[in-house]
Amino acid sequence: MSSRREFVVQLSVGCAALAAGTVAKAQPAMVKESDAIATSLGYKEKASTSKDPKYKAGAMCSNCALYQGKAGDASGACPLFAGKVVSAAGWCTAHANKS
Ligand code: SF4
Repeated sequence: MSSRREFVVQLSVGCAALAAGTVAKAQPAMVKESDAIATSLGYKEKASTSKDPKYKAGAMCSNCALYQGKAGDASGACPLFAGKVVSAAGWCTAHANKS
């Protein structure tokens, strides 16, 4: 039978695990094409759907110098959209080729 002290320790460990799980699952929201900054930058969730004259086939967030996602990630951070993530397959007029 557990003592009160053991119960308190188990409870605190459980709460810590629950909190860690909650933090791990929290992910930034995806940028929406309708967001104000996205609209001003001509952001498209799927690059190939862009009708912008600056768009060049093959250009997308995953090969942009500003993209902070890892290779293979479906999305990643972009400094132009603080607090949100862009689609790896997305594109905007600020696309910068990696040198
Ligand atoms: S700056 Fe680059 S990574 Fe950011 S939204 Fe535009 S194309 Fe994507």
